[in-house]
Amino acid sequence: MRASLTGIGIRLITGSALALGLVLAAGADQRFITIGTGGVTGVYYPTGQNICRLVNRDQDTHGMRCNAESTGGSVFNLNSIANGEMDFGVAQSDWQHHAYHGTDRFAEQGANRQLRAVFSLHPEPFTVVVRPDSGIEAFEDIVGKRVNVGNPGSGQRGTVERLMAEYGWSMDDFALASELPSREQGQALCDNRIDVILFTVGHPSAAIQEPIATCGAEIIPVSGPVVDGLVDDTPYYFRARLPAGMYPGQDEDVQTFGVGATLVTSTGTSDSAVYHLTRAVFENFSTFKGMHPAFAVLEPADMISQGLSAPIHEGALRYYREAGMIRD
Ligand code: GLU
Repeated sequence: MRASLTGIGIRLITGSALALGLVLAAGADQRFITIGTGGVTGVYYPTGQNICRLVNRDQDTHGMRCNAESTGGSVFNLNSIANGEMDFGVAQSDWQHHAYHGTDRFAEQGANRQLRAVFSLHPEPFTVVVRPDSGIEAFEDIVGKRVNVGNPGSGQRGTVERLMAEYGWSMDDFALASELPSREQGQALCDNRIDVILFTVGHPSAAIQEPIATCGAEIIPVSGPVVDGLVDDTPYYFRARLPAGMYPGQDEDVQTFGVGATLVTSTGTSDSAVYHLTRAVFENFSTFKGMHPAFAVLEPADMISQGLSAPIHEGALRYYREAGMIRD
């Protein structure tokens, strides 16, 4: 439990240490830091776990303990950071952009000008997985089918809604629009409860591997003029490709579009906490890169320049300057 002061009194929030709120209130350095991730079969969860592993290795130097929690995904993490319930979170680049600018599904709550970027991570292609007996060959064929559109706090749910708006579809165009969290969707596909999984995720991931291995599920491409328009009109969507051989039986490249995973925090997180987390990742970069196959493509120069709509946190900037990664 962590106490946080709001305008009207003390609010108790579960999931973190009570001591943390008190230490923060006293203005001292943070002792516990939390990273919001995603479902346990995705890539966000191992990403948070791996970052914490590196931070905790240096605990004697900085005195901080890092903990990564499984959550509903990007939008949940951005909201938790805005509410002061979490210190860091992994979030898709499109939702980082909308949260900072107060647009799209963040229009109602308004711009979060306290949101800060730390670095970007792996690419997340928009991945469409179908049952082999579903008769779906092109993305347009998902109309009339049973589709998992994702839980409301997930990043893919928002991306699905944005794509559907571009196609002029509504949820009523599907025979079923289920809201299963990512860890449950593979099983549901193989149990014949849904025909289609839509997931924005790094590769390889257990969430995609599982239905392919268990019931011969297939990945289909997402391309054409609608996707071209989306990519051309926005700074946070880009063309993406799943190289042949990423998963068993996938013999050809699969074209789609994607976003980038990013690590975000808030001005309310201390410079020292952000500095030490950033330092732990980049001082041990080859170890970090080897911690998950989706990290194989990571390059430090890209990680501090791409997919970051919110300003970079002062604590991270301090490390980037010190390490000569940024000069100003
Ligand atoms: N991109 C997904 C989201 O924002 C999560 C992917 C993952 O768990 O790796 O909710």
